[in-house]
Amino acid sequence: MMSVRCGNCDAYQTIVGFRKLPEKNVYTYECENEICDPNVTRTIVEVPREFDNSTKRAEELPYYSSEEEPEAPRQ
Ligand SMILES: [Zn+2]
Repeated sequence: MMSVRCGNCDAYQTIVGFRKLPEKNVYTYECENEICDPNVTRTIVEVPREFDNSTKRAEELPYYSSEEEPEAPRQ
């Protein structure tokens, strides 16, 4: 899992969401403090699936939402 740091408050952001798309995995990070409004500083990280080796771990965590896009057919 990567570390995401906020450019506004300088704190590390917490992962609050994970979504699997056919082409990429999408992670959502937010500040968990009183300084930042998550609606302003929320970070969306998109990782192409072939480069993402943290998916397995992410799926085991409680923030994983099972709403999943259908797999793209393999060529
Ligand atoms: Zn912040």
